[in-house]
Amino acid sequence: MREVRVMRQLVCTGPGIVEWRDVPEPRLAGDGEALVRPIAVARCDIDLPLTSGVFPIREPFALGHECVAEVVALGDRVRGLEIGQRVVVAFQVSCGACRSCTAGHTANCDAYPVLSDFGMQPLSGTEYGGMLADLVRVPHAEAMLAPVAPELDPIALASVSDNVLDGYRAVAPHLAAQPGAEILIVTHGLKSVPLYAALAGIALGAASVDFASNDDEVLAVATRLGARAIRSDFGKPERRYAIVVDAGLTAEGLTYAIRSTEPEGICQSVSFYAGGGMSLPLGRLYTLGIRFFVGRAHAVALLPEVMALIAQGRLRPQEVTTRVVSWEEAPEAFLEPAVKLIVRRG
Ligand SMILES: [Zn+2]
Ligand SMILES: [Zn+2]
Repeated sequence: MREVRVMRQLVCTGPGIVEWRDVPEPRLAGDGEALVRPIAVARCDIDLPLTSGVFPIREPFALGHECVAEVVALGDRVRGLEIGQRVVVAFQVSCGACRSCTAGHTANCDAYPVLSDFGMQPLSGTEYGGMLADLVRVPHAEAMLAPVAPELDPIALASVSDNVLDGYRAVAPHLAAQPGAEILIVTHGLKSVPLYAALAGIALGAASVDFASNDDEVLAVATRLGARAIRSDFGKPERRYAIVVDAGLTAEGLTYAIRSTEPEGICQSVSFYAGGGMSLPLGRLYTLGIRFFVGRAHAVALLPEVMALIAQGRLRPQEVTTRVVSWEEAPEAFLEPAVKLIVRRG
């Protein structure tokens, strides 16, 4: 029998409890797989709700799903990747070969149950491992790993696999259809995704990016990025916009976003209204011809275009980062409020 080697993994064991645990090291379980060693991990906007128990925690689960990692081992069938290479790891597990993946709908791969993500066991019920660990097994390496140019800073790229591309896709297709449009981003509970949307809107040539929120810390970062901050408690909107992004948790915020959308405009929601109790004013959407988009970002499909923008220096996700801590500090830092936290190894 082969000896079982152990590694450290950051685990949430209950609401507000995060600690290192020794767990068995993962091994390659197929010739299309990879083992990677995360070197920079970002905290996702959903991680604080996850660790606070908003979604019931039935058993300890591994944390972290946004990272840059180094390839440590590769199955014999993996092409285009090398040991030691730096990669962004897609946070959604997807095969790269099924009908949904081929269509670019990689968030809903046919081969896996819904919400099959790293670091989010309370959502899917399946433990795929977390990025705050010494090793992570990636089941479809060619599909799920995006090579990173060696000159790029892993700390800057740590959130690309999820929150950065989520913010990007909230504005990019709509701005492509309406070049130079004015954008409003409405933030009521999310922190970094709407800021990355503002960053993308500015980078992609929006005439202006306004940013409405009741969160002063997030508004301060938005101002620093070049957006116009609107301190709002989501009463009557100031005016209407061609493109509005809804990013948050509350009915008031969603209503404000829809009421801020001009006739025939677009309201793109990046919000996860878990529980199913949220209602939509369909009469208003119908009468004014407002197109309302909602759905998860498709990580694997979006990574190449977002990483190309970053490599060109047009998109600078590091401008959103508000705190960088060492690997050892992760358990405490993961529970503290920060707009965007990055954990770096070594
Ligand atoms: Zn996430
Ligand atoms: Zn698939």
